[in-house]
Formats: sequence, structure tokens, C-alpha cells
Amino acid sequence: MSTAPETPHRHQVVVIGSGFGGLFGTKALRRSDVDVTMVARTTHHLFQPLLYQVATGILSAGEIAPPTREILAKQDNARVLLGEVTDIDLERRVVTSQVLGRETTVPYDSLIVAAGASQSYFGNDQFAEFAPGMKSIDDALELRGRIFGAFEMAELAATRGDEVEHLLTFVVVGAGPTGVEMAGQIAELAHRTLKRDFRAISSTQARVILVDAAPQVLPPFGAKLGEKSKQELEKLGVEVWLGAMVTDVDERGLEVKYKDGKTVRIEAVTKMWAAGVQANPLGAMLAEKTGAPLDRAGRIGVNPDLTLPGHPEVFVVGDMISLDNLPGVAQVAIQGAKYAAKEIDGRLKGKPSQGPFKYFDKGSMAIISRFRAVAMVGKLRLTGVIAWLMWLAVHLVYITGFKNRVSALMKWAISFLGRGRASRTMTEQQIFARAALSRLKGGAADLVSEPGAFEAARDLVGVTRRREELEAQAAEEVRLTDAGERGVKVDQRA
Ligand SMILES: Cc1cc2nc3c(=O)[nH]c(=O)nc-3n(C[C@H](O)[C@H](O)[C@H](O)COP(=O)(O)OP(=O)(O)OC[C@H]3O[C@@H](n4cnc5c(N)ncnc54)[C@H](O)[C@@H]3O)c2cc1C
Repeated sequence: MSTAPETPHRHQVVVIGSGFGGLFGTKALRRSDVDVTMVARTTHHLFQPLLYQVATGILSAGEIAPPTREILAKQDNARVLLGEVTDIDLERRVVTSQVLGRETTVPYDSLIVAAGASQSYFGNDQFAEFAPGMKSIDDALELRGRIFGAFEMAELAATRGDEVEHLLTFVVVGAGPTGVEMAGQIAELAHRTLKRDFRAISSTQARVILVDAAPQVLPPFGAKLGEKSKQELEKLGVEVWLGAMVTDVDERGLEVKYKDGKTVRIEAVTKMWAAGVQANPLGAMLAEKTGAPLDRAGRIGVNPDLTLPGHPEVFVVGDMISLDNLPGVAQVAIQGAKYAAKEIDGRLKGKPSQGPFKYFDKGSMAIISRFRAVAMVGKLRLTGVIAWLMWLAVHLVYITGFKNRVSALMKWAISFLGRGRASRTMTEQQIFARAALSRLKGGAADLVSEPGAFEAARDLVGVTRRREELEAQAAEEVRLTDAGERGVKVDQRA
């Protein structure tokens, strides 16, 4: 008796995360003889460097967060699974993820972990409710609502004859690139965009304060560009408070403490946090399982080839790793992920390893306002319009998808050449939904029923009866139109 031939096992790669590392790693495997499963907790890829533009109404969420399914639609060997990874079993080689309390498991032969980093409040997580960070689309939309909402509340307060100063004071904590970009944009909003929109207040009354415990702005850009950026911000009307450490944040304001012990309270309803970064907790989990070191920011120490000690089949890339003081920037994640993909492909083809991962620094830049930026490329230091044009070119190249590039370019023309902002819409839910969700014990999972419970609930609310009513209503609408009875009095109908 003959037996059916066994289907050969195709190498399974699981990629955790759909950010720079996850997406570029998956794409780099498109020609490899593997199946790739990308597990990520959002259905989009996020271009984080432009989040501040969503938060200040320049771009809409779609332009910086295209759906990963669409990006990978033509890559036949890749599939996308929505889920928050909660466990990685290194012995059984299985990744477990969850959505709304439902669990999924995916086995792997090779694994690329690219779960990024989140905001760090340096142990003061209670600040988050009053000073959201800037890491996700939710953060950006919430901040957009809070910023534009503060002007609205100030207009109402002024109409009533009440105080407006605390409503028109905006505090940005952290003078790194994100903080500098946010402070510059809020100042432009107040002094240009909204200048003619209000009647009871003048938006130009707004104070924008950039606070940092460090003695300079943009430390990674060096002393000269840091000083230049500070001057540019001050020209825009931003107050730059350096050496000022935030010690308390509440609904109505925050407190800063200087080195000499002096404390100052700022009354400000709108605060944003761009001060610290903490690697994804999956790093700590992997460190515990493998004995790999973990640094203070929760980043995991990896081998020079980006693999985990004792697990050559597991690569960790991007913001999660601690290796040779590599910075937490997009290029480290992209290059690391491409390296890991090439290593996996090479092993399957029996090729020797590429040797240790080498990062190629393509430079860094930060935008301060329209037509003003600072940039570092090798030893070159650029400022002003040239740096801004460079920023424009680089971001156009790296925004994912042709249609997003065209659309972003149009929105930039609206904002930079004109005065307007194309995406100022805000809703009550954007501002308050996260706080409401956080009050539920199980988060969003508390709002959905178990599969069995759903069936029972359906009978209770009488779905069947409701359907009959809707069908009858639709039939009556059709009859009225077909019989020409609309607008005809009942007693005049034929
Ligand atoms: C506001 C801001 C501005 C920035 N500006 C710049 C800039 O101008 N230039 C620059 O080079 N860099 C910039 N960066 C840094 C850059 O975005 C990061 O270095 C880069 O995104 C790191 O890539 P990554 O793949 O490691 O992580 P990310 O891109 O953060 O991706 C992490 C992915 O993992 C997913 N994920 C997280 N946890 C889980 C889980 N448990 N299960 C499943 N999925 C999970 C996330 O949803 C996400 O898809 C900026 C960052 C921010 C926040």
C-alpha cells in the first residue's frame, strides 16, 4: 500500500510589530522561500515621525498610518494577524497573542521581534492621564482634541468673563525632536492658523512653554544646533525652560523644580509628554527567559548579529535593543530588520552569516517651524531653509505609499504656503474615550461579550423582531416610491 507523500514543511517566520522594523522585515522576506506572519496590535503601519502633524491638524491619520493589509496585499507569502503578543514560548517556538480577550497561537521557525518602545513617565505613570504622550494615533488624536478644545474652552470662558490663562497655556515636556516639533507647531497654530478664528479671545495670547530637565534643547544634535533651535523656538514665541524637572502633573497644571530647589507651578490645562522612552515589555520578558541583560530603559542586550543569547532563531530589532549605543531611530529598526531577513534567507540557502550587524548613519533632522529645521549628516550641520527642504525630501521618500505622498504634499502646501490646516476635526470621544476605557477592569474586552453570551443577549434584545420591523419599514418605503404616493395626501391617493 502506497502512502501519500508528506507536504514539505515551509519555513515559518513570525514578525512581531508592524512599525519600521516589522514592516521592513516582512517586506524584505518577499522573495524568500518562507511564510511570514506579521502579528501586530494595530492594523496599520505607523510613521511616528509625523505624529505631531496629526496632533496639530496638518495631516490626517490615514496619511501616516496606512493599513498593513493593503501594503502587503501583493506579497503572497505574508499574512497579517491582529493581536497583542502576550507570550513567546522559546522552547516550543510559539507566539501567543490576544484581541479582546480571545487568544491566538502561531508557531515559528524564525522570529523577528520588533515591538518598539512606549512613553516613559520615569515611574510617574499617573501623569499620563493629564499629559498624554506621542506614540500612537490614539495619542495624536487625543492631543489634537485637547489642543483645539482648549481654544474652544477659552472662547467660552472669555464669553462668560472668566479667566482664560490656564486654558491658553500649553506645556510640552521634553525638548527632544518630538517636543521641539510640537512646541513649534502649537506656536504656529496660535500665531498663524487660528489668528482670525475667535472673537472673545485672541489665539495669539497663548503661551507655549517647552520644559526640560536637561540644560539644552535637542542634546543628540550637539551644542551648536541645540542653541540654534532654542533661538528659533524663542523667535516663534515659545518659552524654553531648561534645567526644569517636572515633579508633579495634575488636571489643572504642573510643577517644575530647578536645580537650586526653586519650584514653580504652571497653570495649564493642556500638557503633553515627550520626555522619556521605555522599551516594550516583551524585552523584559525575553531577558528573563534567556538571561540577556536589560538596560534602564528596558532595552534588551542582543548578540552582535541581533539574535538572543542561546536562540539564534530569534532576532530582536529596533527600539527594543541595546547594542553599541545605537539610537532609537527609524533607520536602526529598518536596517536591523533587513539584516535579520537576509540572515534568515541566507541560512535557508546554506550561505555563511553576514557577520555582525553594522548600522549606517544616514543623519538626523528635526523641524522647528515652516521653513525652519536643523539637520546633521555626518560632520555636516545644517539649519534654516536648506535643512527644512532636506526634511521635506526625506519624509516624502519614506512616507509609505504613493497616494499618501501625494496627499501629504497637498496638505503641506495648505499649511506651509497657506495658513490653514486640513485636519482640525475633533470629537468628544477622541478626547475622553481613553480615560473612560481605562476605568473598565478589562479595558475594551469588557465591552464585548463571550461568544455564547452573545447568542443569549441577541434573544434578549429581540433581534428577530427588530429585523421584521426593519424589513416591513423598507417594503413600505419601496411601495410609497413605486406607487407615486410620496407628497400625496392620504385621502387624495388613488
Ligand atoms: C513622535 C515620534 C517622532 C519620531 N521622529 C523620528 C524621526 O524624525 N526620525 C527617526 O529616525 N526616528 C524618529 N522616531 C523614532 C522612530 O519612530 C522609532 O525609532 C521607530 O519607530 C522604531 O521602530 P520599531 O520597529 O523598533 O518600533 P515601532 O515603529 O514603534 O513599531 C512597534 C510595533 O510593534 C507593535 N507592538 C508593540 N507591542 C506589541 C505587542 N505586544 N504585540 C504586538 N505588536 C506590538 C506596535 O503596534 C508597532 O506596530 C520618532 C518616534 C516618535 C514616537
